[in-house]
Amino acid sequence: MYKNIKNIDKIVFGRGSFNQLDEIIEPIRKENNKYFVFIVDDFFKGKELEKRLPLHNKDIVKFVFTGKDEPKTSQIDQLRDEIMNTQGLPSGVVGIGGGSAMDIAKALSVMFAQEGSSTLYQGLNLAKNPGVYHLGIPTISGTGAECSTTAVLTGPEKKLGIKCEYTPFNQLILDSELTATVPKDKWFYTGMDCYIHCIESSTGRLYNTFSKAYGDTSLDLCRQVYLGENSGQTPENAEKLMVASLFGGLSLSYSEVGVCHALSYGLSYVFGTRHGIANCISFNVLDDYYPQGLQEFREMLETHNISLPKNLAQTWTEEQITKMAEIAYALSHMWDHALGVDWQTKLNLDIIKDLFRRM
Ligand code: NAD
Ligand code: ZN
Repeated sequence: MYKNIKNIDKIVFGRGSFNQLDEIIEPIRKENNKYFVFIVDDFFKGKELEKRLPLHNKDIVKFVFTGKDEPKTSQIDQLRDEIMNTQGLPSGVVGIGGGSAMDIAKALSVMFAQEGSSTLYQGLNLAKNPGVYHLGIPTISGTGAECSTTAVLTGPEKKLGIKCEYTPFNQLILDSELTATVPKDKWFYTGMDCYIHCIESSTGRLYNTFSKAYGDTSLDLCRQVYLGENSGQTPENAEKLMVASLFGGLSLSYSEVGVCHALSYGLSYVFGTRHGIANCISFNVLDDYYPQGLQEFREMLETHNISLPKNLAQTWTEEQITKMAEIAYALSHMWDHALGVDWQTKLNLDIIKDLFRRM
């Protein structure tokens, strides 16, 4: 059986395209209780973008703080209950920000139409009813959350996405002007999420012509942005990285992430380490799995003077290392893609623990 991929319905791409938001959602405003919910990364609170939000009288703006924790199931449940109890079902949700704000918007739109806690829907095709219209506007590039079929949430027991055909956005607005203010370290770490997606996608068993076509273009753009003659945070590179992120995500829609993301999820679960940097820390110990990608990754680190935190494992307890290894081991779809269907014969908790001890 081949995957039947649910893609984004509509995309606007171009500098300044944020200005089209009002016009784009106008026809949707007649749905449900005739108002929109805007989930906005709180970096934009008090900034020019806040003034540019096309708010109509009943609209709700929720600024989400993404500086510390990644999206949680409890946060989604609380947002949904609070909004439903005050204004009922909205016409739609707009998510403006990075992977976190976009995943909150995606999860919320699905959860508006499901009963009970979002923990019940972490997994594949568990949501039964279509959610409300949702529109994504990335303001930092790399995760591919703008086009993926998953909304990653950390719950009491696991970090796992709500993954179903109702999760992908109905509409994207890709305006690279919005990424101009991203600080250099975040630009690097989140951008590397994209680079690592492509390396992991291309080195596993699910890789196919579809994944390769998107992945090759994405990798080429990442190389221009991070290693090219005019590398760095320029407006031209901001456009390239936005497309690289989208194409990296599309490459994954037919493929999978691998060893790096499995370890990274463990790190984020136990220590709350942000996804981008958690990936970089994890990738840096994977010489046995991704030697070529690592060589290039280290060139990128050097080119942009990024130094990764070192000797982290020295302060970790055995219990923490075991918990991370268990979280990583449970991500069977990633190991299956990276190591093959017989991955369990090649992997055990001790091998994973050793990798964590190298961090
Ligand atoms: P993020 O959204 O967690 O945080 C981004 C940070 O950058 C925040 O501190 C934010 O305030 C800041 N920021 C965003 N835009 C800015 C701008 N224009 N100027 C200045 N600062 C800005 O970071 P991320 O790396 O984009 O996303 C990571 C999250 O995405 C994790 O929760 C991860 O699990 C999830 N993720 C999801 C998918 C998916 O397919 N759904 C894929 C990869 C990662
Ligand atoms: Zn990722």
